[in-house]
Amino acid sequence: MAADPSRSAADAGAAAEAGDDRLLEVENLQTVFHTERETIRAVDGVSFGIAEGETLGLVGESGSGKSVTARSIMGLVDSPGELLPDSSIRFDGRELTGLSEKQYERVRGGGVAMVFQDPLSTLNPVYTVGNQIEEALSLHRGLSGMDATEKAIELLEDVGIPDAARRVSEYPHEFSGGMRQRAVIAMALACDPDLLICDEPTTALDVTIQAQILELLAELQEEHGLAILFITHDMGVIAEVCDRVAVMYAGEVVEQAPVVELFENPRHPYTRGLLRSIPSTQRGAERLETIEGEVPTPNAPATDCRFAPRCPEAFDACREVHPEAVPVATEGVDDHTAACLLYPEDEPREQAVDRHAGEAAQPHVGADDAGGDSR
Ligand code: SF4
Repeated sequence: MAADPSRSAADAGAAAEAGDDRLLEVENLQTVFHTERETIRAVDGVSFGIAEGETLGLVGESGSGKSVTARSIMGLVDSPGELLPDSSIRFDGRELTGLSEKQYERVRGGGVAMVFQDPLSTLNPVYTVGNQIEEALSLHRGLSGMDATEKAIELLEDVGIPDAARRVSEYPHEFSGGMRQRAVIAMALACDPDLLICDEPTTALDVTIQAQILELLAELQEEHGLAILFITHDMGVIAEVCDRVAVMYAGEVVEQAPVVELFENPRHPYTRGLLRSIPSTQRGAERLETIEGEVPTPNAPATDCRFAPRCPEAFDACREVHPEAVPVATEGVDDHTAACLLYPEDEPREQAVDRHAGEAAQPHVGADDAGGDSR
């Protein structure tokens, strides 16, 4: 989990490649919500994979589609939402799209567990913390009675709850915010998952507790060999916990790379904007930059770059051609992609635009529009 700053980008790339045995493979995920007036394309063609024991960070502003991606993987998209037919989510070699609710319950209980931002949304206030962990143990591991209680205490100890034998009988309101999140993680572990999806698990916690929870997740990952999908809007958290990162904007992944590579060589203008908004001790009194404007809500297939209205590097073609993810390799790193018309940067601008438009073999599209500031 935690990104070691001493690791080079090439090391990180090689590690990701070595672990290419993907536990989760999401391909062309499209999750839409139908309203009376329109269809919202909350997740629009997202693809990524996670290897065993790897942490992939999914980062972006609120409204970028991160949480809907997580809920889609968990089979928690309810009507009026649906996954479009070309979407694929393979977990441990098994296709999850199209499973019945009953079949999905077994996936959620066995292979994949989720930790949400607000522990109170997961914990039931009228049952003790122990009851709730024991229920998960009974459902997913067939334990009951003293066996379940002992295991619940062991799990609470595993997640760092002091005096677990006593606290197992306490109610959620008797736990502090940080302890509640630890209890939720213990409940998730009761399912003995291979993949843990963490949706902003530390956002509601103060900074010290946040650091403790991140440390706990790193320890548990090491101990249990967990793969983690870590969702956050916070690039600082990404730097601490992830091996690889997928940056989301308006329902799409716009850049993907090993974490060190992403921080050293961000390519997409949106990623650069996110990185400029991280508080840094080196920045002194200098004001943090923010990205002007808001994430749009996509309601039609993209025919342009959705970031164009906010992009400081936009040129005319950005409003006419939808960028596809293309390799933006740094030497020694071959799994870095960006969906931006500025790339591949070793191609003339017009040719790059044509490639994105899927018309490379034909006379280029919008040559005049491709702008005069060729890179
Ligand atoms: S395609 Fe154009 S608008 Fe979109 S990120 Fe790249 S330069 Fe900016």
